[in-house]
Amino acid sequence: MGLKRVAIIGGGVAGLAAGIRLLRQGCDVSIYEARDELGGCCSTTHVDGFTFNNGAMFVAVPRLLDHAFARLRLDRASLVPMRRIGAPQASFLPDGNSIIFGDGGDVRIEGEHAATRTATLQAEIDRSLSRWAPLLRIFTDDLLTQPLSVPRVLGKAWRHLHKLRGNLATELQRSFSDPDARAAIAAVTLYTGLAPERTPVFQIVGFISMLQDGLHLPENGMGAISDALHRSFRELGGKVHVGTRVDRIRIVDGKVRGLVIDDDEVVADAVVSTASGMATFSGLMDPADVPASMQRRVSQAPLSHRALGVQLGLRNTLQTPAHSVNHVPLLEQQHRMLAPQPADSPWLTYTVPTHTLPGLAAAGGSIVEMFAPVDQDLPLAAWDTAAKEAAADAAIAALARYQPLDIAVRRVTSPKDYAERMHLFQGALYGLSPAAGPGQQFLHETPLKGLFLAGQTTYPGFGVATSAFSGIFAADAVIARMSGG
Ligand SMILES: Cc1cc2nc3c(=O)[nH]c(=O)nc-3n(C[C@H](O)[C@H](O)[C@H](O)COP(=O)(O)OP(=O)(O)OC[C@H]3O[C@@H](n4cnc5c(N)ncnc54)[C@H](O)[C@@H]3O)c2cc1C
Repeated sequence: MGLKRVAIIGGGVAGLAAGIRLLRQGCDVSIYEARDELGGCCSTTHVDGFTFNNGAMFVAVPRLLDHAFARLRLDRASLVPMRRIGAPQASFLPDGNSIIFGDGGDVRIEGEHAATRTATLQAEIDRSLSRWAPLLRIFTDDLLTQPLSVPRVLGKAWRHLHKLRGNLATELQRSFSDPDARAAIAAVTLYTGLAPERTPVFQIVGFISMLQDGLHLPENGMGAISDALHRSFRELGGKVHVGTRVDRIRIVDGKVRGLVIDDDEVVADAVVSTASGMATFSGLMDPADVPASMQRRVSQAPLSHRALGVQLGLRNTLQTPAHSVNHVPLLEQQHRMLAPQPADSPWLTYTVPTHTLPGLAAAGGSIVEMFAPVDQDLPLAAWDTAAKEAAADAAIAALARYQPLDIAVRRVTSPKDYAERMHLFQGALYGLSPAAGPGQQFLHETPLKGLFLAGQTTYPGFGVATSAFSGIFAADAVIARMSGG
């Protein structure tokens, strides 16, 4: 294969991973990133001594990230040192009890009959681990590390497929006798924006992975992952253009010829777009060039939820029993946490990265991150400054009932900001809903010659490590196509 020019739209983990893989195969690779910095939703911003994440907050399933780096011939451990979160989650329940998930599967109930209830829960967790851990291993070691293939899924996971019917709520009711325990475990997956009865049962592997492999934070914040990929990309000769928004993919006679940026044409033999399948087909090309099958996929795409990001840099140190703290109702009521909360609502979820990495804050301070639920039907245009600050005030007032807040920095990101500054399609945090099946994701190889897709709307879906894998798979599809495969 001669030196082929590949243009990548987007410099998040998917674009960077695709770029490294293509450079290693001898391609001439340029990344075009609309923002002024790389990393997309896996980046960090420094404000007045505080290191804030711009999206992703922790690494779940660290083995998968290790596999992705290894596939890029990079050593994750030396390039991105990570700290395991000691106590990932504490849940405070309506009856005044609390449940703390510690390191390595350790769990503790505090409150009435604590010792016997803890022993029962620990036994039920052990049973759940033996039921789900083998499937988690198959996914992390054999399935998510390869392009989607139904025969491979059936071959590797057929013994477990019957477990995947149903939803999270049913599984928790079946496996856990204590209502408080069900609520605390369901709260682990509330970040998906789905009620437990709408959450695919497979999401329980997030809980299993949290117990077994732990959650991890890169020493310098999530941006350390993208920084490491960026350094490798540069060292291999990749070219980066930040602050460069791609206006259009240039297509002639059904074949991709390059990009259009500020009326200038950039010639490329192949384009890898990580700007989501929806944005690529609905905004980055002439409608006449969009294949009917892709128009249908865009119009039927089940989008993930929107939320209001509130991040605070505090002068004081927060005392919390865990990295993530939630005050939640019982399982059956948790769907109510997904709508904007009334002023007197006791329900709230927040995360304190400085619980694990105090150095992310200015000396003696802390960082707290919250994703406040918003009205999903509110148009993006309604998120003007007044609406955004009022919603943030309400979220901060709710938190102030539980924690002393001496606020030095306040960072608020509305759904409109996620759409306009982070370029997330319609402000949907994960692009496609975590309930979307592989059949609703976009394929790496599109019906248009020379156009390939990577990123969180392609298999294996949202998440830092999985997005990196999607970039690797898209690069492999480019290489196979260019070598005549
Ligand atoms: C709030 C939030 C919290 C999350 N929490 C976690 C977590 O804790 N753990 C986890 O593993 N995952 C988490 N995720 C998901 C994870 O961050 C993403 O799945 C992953 O980072 C996506 O990488 P990507 O490269 O596919 O997309 P992105 O990071 O979105 O990168 C795409 C890039 O393309 C650029 N772009 C778009 N359009 C254009 C254009 N026309 N021209 C040029 N550039 C363009 C964008 O600016 C962006 O930088 C979270 C995501 C969000 C939003």
